[in-house]
Amino acid sequence: RPPLTQTVHVKAHFDYDPEEDLYIPCRELGMSFQKGDILHVISQSDPNWWQAYRDGEEDQSLAGLIPSRSFQQHREAMRQTVVGDNNNKEKTKKGKLLCAKKHQKKKKKKMLYPSYNEDFDSEEILTYEDVALYYPRANCKRPIVLIGPPNIGRHELRQKLMEDRERFAAAIPHTSRAKRDSELNGQDYHFISRQEFENDILQRKFVEHGEYEKAYYGTSIKAIQVVVNSGKICVLNLHPLSLKILKSSDLKPFVVFVAPPSLEKLRQKKQRQGETVKDEELKETIEKAREMEEHGSLNGFLLPGLLMNSDRYCSVSMVPNNPPLRFPQTRGSSIS
Ligand code: 5GP
Repeated sequence: RPPLTQTVHVKAHFDYDPEEDLYIPCRELGMSFQKGDILHVISQSDPNWWQAYRDGEEDQSLAGLIPSRSFQQHREAMRQTVVGDNNNKEKTKKGKLLCAKKHQKKKKKKMLYPSYNEDFDSEEILTYEDVALYYPRANCKRPIVLIGPPNIGRHELRQKLMEDRERFAAAIPHTSRAKRDSELNGQDYHFISRQEFENDILQRKFVEHGEYEKAYYGTSIKAIQVVVNSGKICVLNLHPLSLKILKSSDLKPFVVFVAPPSLEKLRQKKQRQGETVKDEELKETIEKAREMEEHGSLNGFLLPGLLMNSDRYCSVSMVPNNPPLRFPQTRGSSIS
């Protein structure tokens, strides 16, 4: 994470008391806070100690030292390792066989669903959540992000919504491939060079991007903003990792977790669509969804309801997943 030049606001996900911190360079300069507090970080130049105010107290006191995200994550990771080690010792006492079996089971699971596990295993320990100032503007509609496992109709659901051209619209993607004769720049795609695309990736301009046949494709924050400013609802189909970038923007999307229906209903849906899919694959999809929900909630992405942190700040991770919105059949579903 490069040092930020602008000030940022974060929501704390742990309690902090400098009096109990053995590592703080100067206890008197420390600032205590509680889980849920919004902190206004004014300096991240020191890798271990940030300077911050509690939101709203900027005029009343001096900024104080708080542990940086990486320092706190490191500390949490160490603590979890110690707890993990102790648990393992306990398991060894109870019986090595049992422990080995458990380990085997876990490993198998990991290999079955590599994509989601890889993403979430590398996910940071949640210490501070980036929040953005939110200024509701008249006639600006918050985007809708559909997330969930592949092949359960998320794409069709998005298409279905977009049929209502008065209300919904897609963000025009960028690509580095050559423009075809029938295409218009700024309408079908924003056509840019490979070099420009790579610069934009480095500048974190895209919420998502990928490569297909040696060309880049991606959706920029700006393109989403254009739809928002036009008064329409931008509908996006994203991987959960993209939520991280959206979190620190002021787009404040509604994130909808599209969960699969029961195995039986999923089977029927595939049959109706004329697809023959093995039960194993369907079960895998359902399991993937369960893992996404589980890991998502652990990582603070999928939190039930609207998270109002204070009058002015609002977390962008507002996922009504309790219960998750279900769209078992794409035909006839709608978001009102
Ligand atoms: P085409 O070059 O034929 O227009 O699109 C080629 C592929 O690029 C398609 O499979 C399409 O799904 C993908 N693509 C188009 N827009 C985007 C985008 O914004 N992001 C990503 N990741 N892929 C895209």
